[in-house]
Amino acid sequence: MILYDVKCADGHRFEAALQSMFDDTPPCRECGAATGRVPAAVRLSGTADPGPSREQMPNTWHGIRRGDPETVRGWHGLMSKREKLEEKYPELAGDRRPVLAHEGVFANAPLRAGDPLASQVAEATFKPAAPPRNGAGQSKQTDRKEADK
Ligand SMILES: [Zn+2]
Repeated sequence: MILYDVKCADGHRFEAALQSMFDDTPPCRECGAATGRVPAAVRLSGTADPGPSREQMPNTWHGIRRGDPETVRGWHGLMSKREKLEEKYPELAGDRRPVLAHEGVFANAPLRAGDPLASQVAEATFKPAAPPRNGAGQSKQTDRKEADK
């Protein structure tokens, strides 16, 4: 049994359990219209939820409800689980090197510790040069100026 998120044209969304990935999705439970699978939401029933990522962790005082012990404990538990999962599946951890710069030329690709600085800067700074002008426009303008006189 595979669980899929399905959605009809009207946007009603629900979960449907299908025997195989080749089965048609059932009609909408709300309106009876045809449905389709919501992409990238395939989950095998019983698969462990990886939980929130590090980026989703609260990083403000407000985010942890002003230090509410219950909230802090909850997040600590989730992050401990996440840490164990990342030890087992390092690809889940992503790039964990410290970000050194993320503004200006590094807005799209943050500079991380260990990155070759020169090439990063060059890549972020220099754009392909505009095709060289042949100077024809320049001389035409000069001609016109002379004609106006
Ligand atoms: Zn519907």
